Amino acid sequence: MDSPERPHLEAWLRYADDLGLGPFYLDRAPQSTPDVGPFSDSRAAESVPAPVSSAATAPSIAAVAPRRAPEPPIPQKPTAASAFTPQVSGPSLFEERIENDSLARILDDIGPNCTRCKLHKARTHIVFGVGSPKAQLVFVGEGPGHDEDVQGEPFVGRAGKLLTQMIEAMGLRRQDVYICNVVKCRPPENRLPERDEIATCSPYLLRQLGVIQPKVICCLGACSAQTLLNTNQGISRYRGEWFDFHGSKLIATYHPAYLLRNPPTKSEVWKDLQKVMAVLGLEPPRKSKSS
Ligand code: SF4
Repeated sequence: MDSPERPHLEAWLRYADDLGLGPFYLDRAPQSTPDVGPFSDSRAAESVPAPVSSAATAPSIAAVAPRRAPEPPIPQKPTAASAFTPQVSGPSLFEERIENDSLARILDDIGPNCTRCKLHKARTHIVFGVGSPKAQLVFVGEGPGHDEDVQGEPFVGRAGKLLTQMIEAMGLRRQDVYICNVVKCRPPENRLPERDEIATCSPYLLRQLGVIQPKVICCLGACSAQTLLNTNQGISRYRGEWFDFHGSKLIATYHPAYLLRNPPTKSEVWKDLQKVMAVLGLEPPRKSKSS
């Protein structure tokens, strides 16, 4: 008879088998850490956009109007290695959120035919986000790829399937979390979003986060981490560290697409996910004696 943990265990075992690492939760020695460059996504490092411009104070959700050129999101400004330390205090961005804001209102504000940035030219669908509006965990990627553009849902291609595996290995289901991107339309040729595109579209991401108010935000890849942390530092500088994002805890890890190309890196990501699980009070499924 299946136990309630069985689906989680199976998902975890699939993920562990895929990694070839065995049971992570036994604190087995990690695989060798690859030399991760400053931009660790699957897309070309040299195409990573310049960092969003800096500002002295953090913006508010209320200050982010959907139809004007937005200020970039600036929760804090880590500029040096010493700045990459967990900061878990500070005012809540969401205290100043748009009154009665909702995911439906944000989607309505974007509209079905948004042309605010040049990414609209080649898109098929606007990929808004998917999952629970009450999720305690939000994954933020950079932008839709081909499959996402066709289907109108984030993370449904190969990288998306791996993300689903990761979520299930944490003992969750896709519908338990929320998944979205910095930009809602597919950058041509799978390039990274450019600075102006991020500046134009990221206010909607901020509003999504303001509505959901997750306990944990997990940035997938350098683009989302650099956007939300307002830094041009490579993700390897701060991957796996905790930051305060106006009341939510933010952690950055590698993009699933990068993991597909660099499987040994999965062990590092699993460590990050274990940190997320600890914050959320999630227990990894225990290995049964029969398995
Ligand atoms: S990426 Fe965002 S701002 Fe640009 S066209 Fe798409 S929805 Fe509009």
